[in-house]
Amino acid sequence: MSTNHTVACDVLVIGAGAAGMTAAVTARHHGLDVIVTEKAQALGGASALSGGNLWIPANPQARRLGIDDSSDAARRYLAHEMGNRFDPERVDAFLENAPRMLEFFEKNTAVRFFCRYNYPDYHPEAEGGMMAGGRTICAEPFDARALGAYLAVLRRPLRTETLMGMMTTPLELPHYYNALRSPRSFFYVGARLLSHAWDMLRHGRAMRLTNGNALAARLVKSLLDLGIPLWLSSPARELVVTQGAVTGALVETENGLARVEARRGVVLACGGFPHDPLRRQELLPRLAAAMGYLPLGPAENTGDGLRLAETAGGQLDQSAGNAAFWTGVSRVPIAGGAIQGHYFDRQRPGVIAVTRSGRRFVNEAVSYHEFGEALIRACEPGAEAAGFLVCDHRAIRRYGLGFARPLPLPLFPHLRSGYLLRGQTLAELARRAGIDAAGLAATVETFNTHARRGEDPEFGKGSSAFNRYFGDVRRQPNVCLGPVEHPPFYALKISVGLMGTLAGLKTDRYARVLDQGGRAVPGLYAVGNDMANVFGGTCPGGGITLAPGMTFAFIAGRHLAGVDHEESSAAERNAAQVGATAA
Ligand SMILES: Cc1cc2nc3c(=O)[nH]c(=O)nc-3n(C[C@H](O)[C@H](O)[C@H](O)COP(=O)(O)OP(=O)(O)OC[C@H]3O[C@@H](n4cnc5c(N)ncnc54)[C@H](O)[C@@H]3O)c2cc1C
Repeated sequence: MSTNHTVACDVLVIGAGAAGMTAAVTARHHGLDVIVTEKAQALGGASALSGGNLWIPANPQARRLGIDDSSDAARRYLAHEMGNRFDPERVDAFLENAPRMLEFFEKNTAVRFFCRYNYPDYHPEAEGGMMAGGRTICAEPFDARALGAYLAVLRRPLRTETLMGMMTTPLELPHYYNALRSPRSFFYVGARLLSHAWDMLRHGRAMRLTNGNALAARLVKSLLDLGIPLWLSSPARELVVTQGAVTGALVETENGLARVEARRGVVLACGGFPHDPLRRQELLPRLAAAMGYLPLGPAENTGDGLRLAETAGGQLDQSAGNAAFWTGVSRVPIAGGAIQGHYFDRQRPGVIAVTRSGRRFVNEAVSYHEFGEALIRACEPGAEAAGFLVCDHRAIRRYGLGFARPLPLPLFPHLRSGYLLRGQTLAELARRAGIDAAGLAATVETFNTHARRGEDPEFGKGSSAFNRYFGDVRRQPNVCLGPVEHPPFYALKISVGLMGTLAGLKTDRYARVLDQGGRAVPGLYAVGNDMANVFGGTCPGGGITLAPGMTFAFIAGRHLAGVDHEESSAAERNAAQVGATAA
C-alpha cells in the first residue's frame, strides 16, 4: 500500500472502546506521545452500549463501604470457576492490578465508579464467591455537557436499554418498579422524568449518561483532558513490521493512507470478532450452524485486531471453554430493528422460558450467559436457536416483559406490532406462538404445582443468591417463583444474542502478544476483546470483559512507558531460571 504522509508517536492505539482508551490514558499519563485511531465515526465501541459493569474483586469502592473481600478469596473462586483453564500468571496479574487501575483512574482522570454493593457473583455459593455482592462496580453517571463538541461523536446507547431515551443506573431500578407502590420511589422517578424532559426540551437528547455510555464518555473526557489526538473514521489496515518488531501501522484517514510510526509500540483494541463471519464459523461452529442468533455491539468489530496480529506472528488462544458470551434477546419492531436483552424479567415470579416443544430448558434466573448457553443447547443443531418467555397477566403488569414495561405503561403497542403475543388460554397462546400446546399445558401444570409451594425441583429457580437478586421480595417463600395462572397469558419470542467474544490473541501478563513459540512479539500488545479473556471462557460475575479489558490496558500502558519494566525483567529472569532448572 502506498502512503501519502507519515506521522510519528510513541504509542499507536487501534480502537477507541474502553480498553483502547484506557491504554491511551495510562500511557499518556506516564509521559508518552499517544495517538488513538478509531474505525467508526463514533467513539466508545461496544463499551458505550454496555451496562458499564466491571467485575473487580477487592475493589476500593467496596472497601470504602466496609465490604470484606480479598484477592485470595477471588483466586479460590476463579480456580473453582475456571477448572483446568486457570492460568495463574494472567489471573494474578488481573487480581493484583485491577484495584490499582481503579485507584489510578480515580486519582488522575474523570473516570469514576460506584459499587453495586448488593449484586452477588454469578455462583456465589461456590468457594470464595461473594453472596452479598461487592465485586461488581459500575460507571458513575456523567453530565454529557462536559464533553462539549465531542458529545456528537459519542456512540449513543441502545434505544431499548433506555426509557424514552432516559438512562438509568442499576441501583435506581427498584424505584422504577415500585413507583406506584412507594411514595419515595414515586417522587424519585417523577424528579428523574422532569429532569429528562427538561434536557429533551433544551438539548433534544438525554444529558445524564449512565452505565457503559457514562464509562465511554468519562474515558473520552480523560483523553481530551490529556490532549490525546483522536482520529475518527480511520481504520488501521496493516501493521508495519521491521525486523520482527511491530513499529507502526498503516491507517486509512480522511487525508489518505497514513504511515504511523510508533516508537514504543502498537496496542490492538478492536473489540474482538462478533461481526467476523469467518472467525465465527471457525471458533463458534455449534452456533454458526444454528440460525437466528444476533451479534450485539457495533458492526465495526470485525476481528481486525486478530487479523493484524496474525500478520506479525501473533497466535490465537483457542483454549477457552466458550469463545463468546451469550444472552437471550428479543427483536423489537422499531426503527433500526432494535434488540432487547433479557436481564431483569426472566427471574420474576410467574415467568418461565420454554422451547417450541413447550418444555422448560433452564433455571430462568441464572446469568444471561448461562441462559444463552442453555438456549443454544436446547435447540437442534442447524435449527433456529429460539425459545419463548411465557407469563401471566399479573406478572407482566407487575414486572413487564422485555420491551413491554410494567404498569402504568400500556401493552397494546407491543400486541399490535406482534412483539408480544397474547392468548385468553394457554392453548390459544400456544397456537399463536407456534408452541406445542400439549407440551406447554403439561409444563405449566407441573410448574404451578411446585411454584405454589415455592419449589422448582426441575431447575431450582430461586435456589441461589444470584437468582434471588432480581426476585420480588414480596413473594414468599421463593422470591423468584409464582404460578402462571392469571389469564390472559403472554409469550415473547427470544433468540440467542452474542454479547461479545472471549477467544482472542494469546498474551502474557503484560498484555504482549505471543507468537507460536510463546515469545512476545516486540512492540505488539492486545487488550479488551482482542486478547483472549483471562477467565478462560467462564462467566464468574457481572463485568467479565470490561474489567480485564481495562486492567490489562492499564498494564500495557504502564509497560509501554517502562513503569513496569523492572518488574517485568525480574519476572523474566525468574522464569528463565525456573526454565533452566527444569531443563
Ligand atoms: C448490551 C450489552 C451490554 C454489555 N454489558 C457489559 C457489562 O456490563 N460489562 C462487561 O464487562 N461487558 C459488557 N458487555 C460486553 C462489552 O461491551 C464488550 O465486551 C466490551 O465493550 C469490549 O471492549 P473493547 O474495548 O474490547 O471493544 P469496543 O468497546 O467494542 O471497542 C473496539 C473499538 O475498536 C474499533 N475498531 C475495530 N476495528 C478497528 C480498526 N481496524 N481500526 C481502528 N478501530 C477499529 C471499533 O470501531 C470500536 O470502537 C456488554 C455488551 C452488550 C452488547
